Amino acid sequence: MAQIKDDPGGDLTLHSLTKTFGDFVAVDDLDLTIPQGSFFALLGPSGCGKTTTLRMVAGLERPTAGTIKIGDQDVTEARPYQRPVNTVFQSYALFPHLNIVENVEFGLRRRNKKNTRATAMEALELVQLAHLALRKPGQLSGGQQQRIALARAIVNRPSVLLLDEPLGALDLKLRRQMQIELKRIQLEVGLTFVHVTHDQEEAMTMADTIAVMNAGVIEQLGDPATLYERPSTTFVANFLGQSNLLPGKVSGSDGENLVIDVQGAQLALPKDRSATTTGDVWFGVRPEKLVICDDSTAVAGNRISGTVTDASFTGVSTQYLVKLGWGQEITVVQQNDGTPPLRPGGEVTVQWAPQHGFALDAAQDAHAG
Ligand code: ATP
Repeated sequence: MAQIKDDPGGDLTLHSLTKTFGDFVAVDDLDLTIPQGSFFALLGPSGCGKTTTLRMVAGLERPTAGTIKIGDQDVTEARPYQRPVNTVFQSYALFPHLNIVENVEFGLRRRNKKNTRATAMEALELVQLAHLALRKPGQLSGGQQQRIALARAIVNRPSVLLLDEPLGALDLKLRRQMQIELKRIQLEVGLTFVHVTHDQEEAMTMADTIAVMNAGVIEQLGDPATLYERPSTTFVANFLGQSNLLPGKVSGSDGENLVIDVQGAQLALPKDRSATTTGDVWFGVRPEKLVICDDSTAVAGNRISGTVTDASFTGVSTQYLVKLGWGQEITVVQQNDGTPPLRPGGEVTVQWAPQHGFALDAAQDAHAG
């Protein structure tokens, strides 16, 4: 095939990308365009096909069908080293006998680049570890080694940087710091980052756009706020944070709102927040959008009554389970304001504004029920 330019630039485009292992379809006819310079996350549970997708882009796995393009160049058949793509894995794979700057410089030297030392030092400055350039990897913490692995991956400015659960081995606090750090670095270098993770909070913290994958296909694609506020399937609603999903039926409309009958309660939501205007639906609302109140503080909105069955104090907030008349429990998260949490056993009214609801078409939803 024709020589691939060092940095062809342009969007990463996957067209009908498919990978089967025997009879098993790991990636199923995937169509996806990842804009140049974006921070993109492939998010999904274990086994959904995200790593296989990444490995095909890296050239480590051969697609069964479909094409991979970077800009206008088809790289589907290119060897891994011919692609303008680098990967950062969870394991750092640094050379233990080389010092840090030599580790970062290694790939540049192999490609006979000029000024390799200066370029490697620039990459180390970007990850804020230039002062450790002469140490050996064994003298660095896990978080520092991960940053060196990142510096090594971006030093030759690939068009696309693939990140395969790179923060998985770090403890929670370091993970949170590195998420912010990775976002800063991506903005600074402007390369396309494709980040694979099963951690919804990590994907939402970092990515401009998220593709939620399930069983080899993309369930929904969008920016974090849209996916969270307007999930299009119960799978997405449940995978991105907690959702209360109540079984209902569209019973009418009231001006701008649609009215959903949920076990006799008439719940309103704006028409554009419902996937359908007829038939069976799942009425969804996020736990933190719910407000527990008594009748004296009631404001206009949707209301439903139940009994508190559990109260868990978590510091910033308290999470309640509230059992509704038909036996379903919903989760309510309330910010703590210093007043003592409610005790289990009490009757409460739960309220929320119509614009915080969403409705999914139960007939169209493969995961409903
Ligand atoms: P994880 O987060 O656990 O890595 P994933 O979403 O990245 O999961 P993949 O590693 O892409 O999932 O795997 C997708 C499916 O393909 C899994 O069911 C896996 O068992 C299967 N699979 C992956 N590689 C192979 C292989 N070489 N041979 C057979 N099956 C495979």
